[in-house]
Amino acid sequence: MAKKYVYSFGGGKGEGNESMKNLLGGKGANLAEMAGNKDLLLPVPPGFTCTTEVCTYYYQNKKRYPKELKEQVSKALEKVEKLMGRKFGDANNPLLFSIRSGARKSMPGMMETILNCGLTEKTIPGLIKQSAGNSRFVYDAYRRLIMMYSDVVMEKAAGIEPKGKEGLPAGEAGIRKQLEKVMADLKKSKKYASDTDLTVDDLKKLCASFKAKIKEVLGKEFPDEPTEQLWGGISAVFSSWNGKRAISYRRIENIPDEWGTAVNVQTMVFGNMGDDSATGVAFTRNPGNGENNFYGEYLINAQGEDVVAGIRTPAPINEYSTSSHNKNLLTLEKTMPDIYKELYKIQNRLERHYHDMQDIEFTIEKGRLFMLQCRIGKRNGPAAVRMAVDMVKEKMIKKEVAVTRVTPSQLDELLHPIIDPKTELTVKPLAKGLPAGPGGASGQIVFSSNDAVEWAKAGKKVILVREETNPEDVEGMRVAQAILTARGGMTSHAALVARGWGKCCIVGCNAIHVEIDKKVVRIGDKTIKEGDWVTLNGTKGNVYEGKLPMMDVSEENTVLSEFLKMCDAVRKLGVRTNADTPEDAKRARQFGAEGIGLFRTEHMFYGKGSDQALFLLRKMIVSKTLEERQVALNELFPFVKKDIKGTIEAMDGFPVVIRLLDPPLHEFVPRETAKLEQLAKDLNIDMQELDKRAEGLHESNPMMGHRGVRLGITYPEVSAMQIRAIFEAAAELAKEGKDPYPEIMIPVVCDVKELDDQFAIAERIYKEVLAKYNLKKIKYLLGTMIEIPRAAIVADKLAARAKFFSFGTNDLTQMGFGFSRDDIGGFVPEYIKKGILPEDPFQSIDQEGIGELIKMGIKRGRSTNKNLEVGICGEHGGEPKSVEFCHNIGMNYVSCSPFRVPIAKLAAAQAVLKKK
Ligand code: PEP
Ligand code: MG
Repeated sequence: MAKKYVYSFGGGKGEGNESMKNLLGGKGANLAEMAGNKDLLLPVPPGFTCTTEVCTYYYQNKKRYPKELKEQVSKALEKVEKLMGRKFGDANNPLLFSIRSGARKSMPGMMETILNCGLTEKTIPGLIKQSAGNSRFVYDAYRRLIMMYSDVVMEKAAGIEPKGKEGLPAGEAGIRKQLEKVMADLKKSKKYASDTDLTVDDLKKLCASFKAKIKEVLGKEFPDEPTEQLWGGISAVFSSWNGKRAISYRRIENIPDEWGTAVNVQTMVFGNMGDDSATGVAFTRNPGNGENNFYGEYLINAQGEDVVAGIRTPAPINEYSTSSHNKNLLTLEKTMPDIYKELYKIQNRLERHYHDMQDIEFTIEKGRLFMLQCRIGKRNGPAAVRMAVDMVKEKMIKKEVAVTRVTPSQLDELLHPIIDPKTELTVKPLAKGLPAGPGGASGQIVFSSNDAVEWAKAGKKVILVREETNPEDVEGMRVAQAILTARGGMTSHAALVARGWGKCCIVGCNAIHVEIDKKVVRIGDKTIKEGDWVTLNGTKGNVYEGKLPMMDVSEENTVLSEFLKMCDAVRKLGVRTNADTPEDAKRARQFGAEGIGLFRTEHMFYGKGSDQALFLLRKMIVSKTLEERQVALNELFPFVKKDIKGTIEAMDGFPVVIRLLDPPLHEFVPRETAKLEQLAKDLNIDMQELDKRAEGLHESNPMMGHRGVRLGITYPEVSAMQIRAIFEAAAELAKEGKDPYPEIMIPVVCDVKELDDQFAIAERIYKEVLAKYNLKKIKYLLGTMIEIPRAAIVADKLAARAKFFSFGTNDLTQMGFGFSRDDIGGFVPEYIKKGILPEDPFQSIDQEGIGELIKMGIKRGRSTNKNLEVGICGEHGGEPKSVEFCHNIGMNYVSCSPFRVPIAKLAAAQAVLKKK
């Protein structure tokens, strides 16, 4: 049997269904589902889908089609003709088609569309009849077809690159712009303000002038023949899979080139047949904040492209969808109450059917509702979390599904920087627009995608300002901190794309006037130039002049905590935090950290209120004799104990891994003369002697020098002081009725004898502290970091002594690769650019190399100590892919900075579900 390349839908039937997205694309599969699933049977205009396999064939065979295609298309076309009682190309009762792309994953606005296909001089009278004599509408449809067809099929698909005039992007010189100019000139000569002022005669003349212009510019006639239009349109849509915009979008979204797009050919229904017609876009829940309310926009007497292009301000479909921009416009609920009711019911059914928020497109033709599209709606982070939580409560989905509905980066949006609210209260917005993407951002303004890319490459923070939402800006949008457009609604392309990325974005900011050629924006009598700073509040839609201070949002968010509880119920991996002060520990508890995976003792010597402790540490470092050092250590002891006690207390009941001093000592030697003089005075030595001692600490390669456990081996009294501080802090807390659980960690270990040495000190001091406090026991563990490759290799020996391992993947990556972690800037970017490394191994674990060392360390470690507790405390502990890896290889926990705790929890839960 011949291969099936064409699938029909409509009239209560669908040859495909929702599960066939790979073959029919998202749009095609959903059209078939909406039309044919017995629970839906929605009013979908009939049509057919040419599969993604046609696209792959087309590209593999020099843009030729499989031989079966022609016949399958004609058969499918006949079916539509029967269902509609109209004929394609018929002079009396013509059938018109839309031709649209539809890949597996939605690529909003990145490919081409042809509307009104089949409209020709010959079929015009038939369409006039169908529209009850509305010749104006018909000629308007014809001029739209000519414009679209010449642009998409005759220019873009034909590979013609129009040459831009100086300073203007090439797109400005294309056939579409030239035809727009012809139309603008006509309007100007007739002193018309709007397109709707054009009369039938004007439009007839316009169509003729368009055809002449096309002949003049492109050297070809506009094809006034339905079948030629149909195949031209199909080919142009398949070609647009390899258009510039689509390719850039695929790179950013990691969509494979081989997927290809399907092409949907569907009966045209008209939202612009008069005031009883309309078109709109809606979401079953609010994609901006997740509220369970039907939300959308529509335009009376308009085509779908008018809503998306943002040329006219769309009206709200209901009271809920009103904003300060559209509150004076009548809602669909008021203008067409029956249709609104029908649409409301359909959206409800759709959401229940798909168990997820749907983004729907509808058209009303002469009082009759048609569903043109439905798909899973894109949403921002706050909305994703809210919908996931609500849908579990509504029993629409299970917890396990809810956890998969939010990506780690969407969760990140909830933890996004915002404009410092106090400062924001004191400044007046320059302008207001629609809040299309959350959070705050500031940057220098640029006016083109290319400039955005160039400036960002030079390390600048930019805000891309555009007149209207334009999908060709995708690369610039990606690198920009935020996007600001003068036109467009909440469903415009830029808004959809930005929302998908969770990027700060304001659209439809009518008050700004963009003068692209002069590279300025005028707002009232104010002029802002390229390179000037502005700040956006994408949650409110406010634009401010200058650079306002930002703040991280760590406020209580009950929906977020409910969502994290769901993640907690699913995940197996523990999530701890890296925190060095009692304050950080408290904040991490609020984020739900289950203990501390790394307390870097040395960090307590920097930051506020640490002057005295730092001075004493320095005194200890430059001490020469044991006696001198012991005096300094005794003075330092209460400071260390206080910080450790506060931190263990903040984490009461949870384990706290305290790492003994790690960095090379010379890092702490002061450079300022005043500080050096004070030190010399306190130690009763002269400056010369101090210089000599400091000089003695100098190392050529400090990262591999006298640091970590090596300090404890050479100065056991330094380890002893810290260990005593830990045990005494725990003892006091235990006496106070708390539940302290310190885990003492030895860094930079490469041999078990180092552990023997340090653990002996710990065990001695433990006994002394028990005696001092008259306690029988303090809960504690002794363990080590695995951050030197040799440690991973001799892990079996280490684990025979250590109760826990914590992988220090920063140093393990540094020493495993032999890449200095402080000097990678000079070469790693080039490695990535040349594809030698897939990504920065200091951000995401290099699973192939360093990952193998980790696996070996765990396996060997557990071979001699089956209860060995294993965690990770390098920066990778909060990076989603690395978290998944840690889950898969059987670690007990990951540890990361407080702000990444929620992300690690989500990644850990998703790792469980992925493995199932
Ligand atoms: C590590 O090396 O991964 C680690 C956590 O320690 P530090 O970054 O302090 O060297
Ligand atoms: Mg380290």
